Amino acid sequence: MSIQVFGLPVSRGVAIGRAVLLASSRFDVTHHFIDPADVGHEVARLRQARDEVSAELMALKREVPEEAHAELVALLDVHLMMLHDPMLTDAIVNWIIQRHYNAEWAVASQLEVLSRQFDDMGDEYLRERKADVEQVAERLIKVLVRHRKGLTAPDAVVSSAGRDQSSEEPLVLVANDIAPADMLQFKRSLFTGFVTDVGGRTSHTAIVARSMDIPAVVGAREASRLVRQDDWVVIDGDAGILIVNPPPMVLEEYRFRQQQSELERARLKRLRNTPSVTLDGQAVELLANIELPSDAPAVLEAGAVGVGLFRSEFLFMNRGGHLPDEQEQYEAYRAVVTTLNGLPVTIRTVDVGADKPLDRLSVQELRHEHSLNPALGLRAIRWSLSEPDMFLQQLRAILRAAAHGRVRVLIPMVAHLQEAQQVLALIERARSSLVADGLAFGPVELGVMIEIPAAVLILPSLLRHFDFISIGTNDLIQYALAIDRADEAVSHLYDPWHPAVLRLIAQAIEQANAMGRGVSVCGEMAGDPAFTELLLAMGLRSFSMHPAQIGAIKQRILRADARALGAALPAVLEADNPQEVGGALLRSGAGRVLRAGLA
Ligand code: PEP
Ligand code: MG
Repeated sequence: MSIQVFGLPVSRGVAIGRAVLLASSRFDVTHHFIDPADVGHEVARLRQARDEVSAELMALKREVPEEAHAELVALLDVHLMMLHDPMLTDAIVNWIIQRHYNAEWAVASQLEVLSRQFDDMGDEYLRERKADVEQVAERLIKVLVRHRKGLTAPDAVVSSAGRDQSSEEPLVLVANDIAPADMLQFKRSLFTGFVTDVGGRTSHTAIVARSMDIPAVVGAREASRLVRQDDWVVIDGDAGILIVNPPPMVLEEYRFRQQQSELERARLKRLRNTPSVTLDGQAVELLANIELPSDAPAVLEAGAVGVGLFRSEFLFMNRGGHLPDEQEQYEAYRAVVTTLNGLPVTIRTVDVGADKPLDRLSVQELRHEHSLNPALGLRAIRWSLSEPDMFLQQLRAILRAAAHGRVRVLIPMVAHLQEAQQVLALIERARSSLVADGLAFGPVELGVMIEIPAAVLILPSLLRHFDFISIGTNDLIQYALAIDRADEAVSHLYDPWHPAVLRLIAQAIEQANAMGRGVSVCGEMAGDPAFTELLLAMGLRSFSMHPAQIGAIKQRILRADARALGAALPAVLEADNPQEVGGALLRSGAGRVLRAGLA
């Protein structure tokens, strides 16, 4: 039966593939594809774990005290039977052989399949046996994890290792939730799309998906419950729809749309070397957002003229508590600076906290474990200032990387002038310590992120100390409207068109321009073509976005008349509601230019 599930579109395009269901976080299993050459070894690991669990259960049986209820022995017998039942073990082996899942993932996948079968059973006694299967699977996973702990390989990596792309069916990822740290690892995977039950449009999980340039839908609530392992699914990343087991006609329509969107991408790629200039001759700088040094080549391929936001916190994730030291950070920053070969690289100091924990906690787990307001807590610059040794290491690493090219330092989530002043003092300390150590370093430009309404209101004071600002609209919207950006329950209220948001952005751009400071937008609005004319109208001439979005934004810039758009701005900012705001722009003279340009 075909089912449609509606969610939030977060990354454009159409993906068609077999569903890979990420096991629920009940078991903290790692997911990675094994090399085909290692299938035999992985099956042997599984068999060894099964034998060990079997021995454990037998020992438990022997230890059951005489006076204990006979039911306990019977229960252990049931568990032993299940453990050796081909429904469990053969099926797990199949996931390993056919899909190349690691053994833990294979166990969790089969558990998911069996759990659903149990849920569908009419007989209550049988339905209750689900808990037994879960316990057996849990024992198996524990043994597998225990054995793996001795290995040194990064075992959580979902990589393309060993998968022969040509012979594989496309895979799409379906999960209740994915931690940003896990998403990062999926960057190196072959998934062609993904869907989660939870999340908002600018949650970091969504942001990483967008940077992977694969169709994605979040906030699809029931998706992971409705989809089964290996189902064929279509992800419509433009409309935010997931279609499970689509009928042939629908599939054909989507295959056509998929081709169209690939043609469109190819067309946009041809703009790579076209200078980004409006119809009336205004140059607009298009920069790229990156998460890892390995993203740097894509910046140049997209024709960006620098990195406007390097989210350095992704270097700090999945480290099991061992954060990167100064040398490791220096090498990572230097790699990007060298690849960019003279183009500016804006390194944002570490912005952890809120929906970006350092470890693999998903947003839901975070909410559960830290029931206070993580978005209002010790995150971003607040965290860095509370860990001055760590922060000094990062500043030293950035300054050293600046010896190899043009580097700009960006401070996230500044709300107080004192925070900015503390940062400046620490940068001075970092410089002096490098001099004392005889290490080379270079000059850096200093900038603050404007993400909190309070920062907009004290902007002139901040700008006296900094060379540039970068407007983080994702957080600015969150803090202006008091909407958790990662919470799908309030995502309908997360409104970039809200007049208060637009006035804050316009004010920040105007003040920075008036004081002759650089100003850029690096939040998701910068890469969304729906806002290009509006931001141009506000006087923005520097946009930073995922490399994959650059072509579409450049196309809009080439067709825009910045002067005419600017003249329309007051009407837009005075409009009462978001619909009117959008409408006002299109009804204005600029709109006529815009329509003519698009025709
Ligand atoms: C923002 O808040 O707009 C931003 C660019 O930073 P991040 O999305 O990483 O919080
Ligand atoms: Mg932010």
